[in-house]
Amino acid sequence: MAAETPPLPQPPCVAPDWALFLDVDGTLLDFAAAPADVHVEPGLVDALAVLHRRLDGALALISGRTLAQLDRLFSPLKLPAVGLHGLEQRDNGHLDLHRRAPALDAVLAAAQALAAKYPGALAEDKGTTIALHWRGAPAAEEPLHEFATSALIDLPGYHLQPGNSVIELRPDGAHKGAAVLSLLAHPPFQGRRPVFVGDDLTDEHGFAAVASHGGFGVLVGRRQPSAARYALHDPEAVRAWLDDAVAIAGDEQRRRDDP
Ligand SMILES: [Mg+2]
Repeated sequence: MAAETPPLPQPPCVAPDWALFLDVDGTLLDFAAAPADVHVEPGLVDALAVLHRRLDGALALISGRTLAQLDRLFSPLKLPAVGLHGLEQRDNGHLDLHRRAPALDAVLAAAQALAAKYPGALAEDKGTTIALHWRGAPAAEEPLHEFATSALIDLPGYHLQPGNSVIELRPDGAHKGAAVLSLLAHPPFQGRRPVFVGDDLTDEHGFAAVASHGGFGVLVGRRQPSAARYALHDPEAVRAWLDDAVAIAGDEQRRRDDP
């Protein structure tokens, strides 16, 4: 029997000199059967707002979702954010959108027709990418994989990005690590200790990027191997960890107000 990998230690509390990069699904939010069904826990939006101020703006969401979806989920907050694994980026109000491949509409229509045969499966139109989900329909995993592999023939310059019960057809050259490095090149992120929190394979690019700049990754879950140095058990543990940092920020504020 193979020896079980020892669990990674818990991360230290969020420090004021960090740049904090947070994945969203499976990290801040519990997974739902479909991406549209996720629930934002009460208090999470307020906690993110407090920490964004405490880090002097150096807190960003790094997600596979679109920026428009992120803004809806965390309304009224508009945090610095990277969407679609780096294809969309908002940094001090600047937004860079990549172009949609001409064949994507036809591939999307075929993907949606296939997904419709498996109740619970979903072919999601994400603008420049297509995500094929089977969390709600495990039997769809193999046919969706086969479809994605064959669809690449019609999408030059695209590749497959596997994830947690999802595979995505996406343009080359963008991943969460590159997105983090581009944010770290400018204020308010520049010169801070970068910390990336994420659960999925796509977050390993983020863990490697922060490690190359004197920071570290925090894995959500027990997936191994991982380049993360610390781990938190699940999104609930992530939210508790953020709440601890909010409480400490509140104590410090009260000491400043009333020494
Ligand atoms: Mg995730």
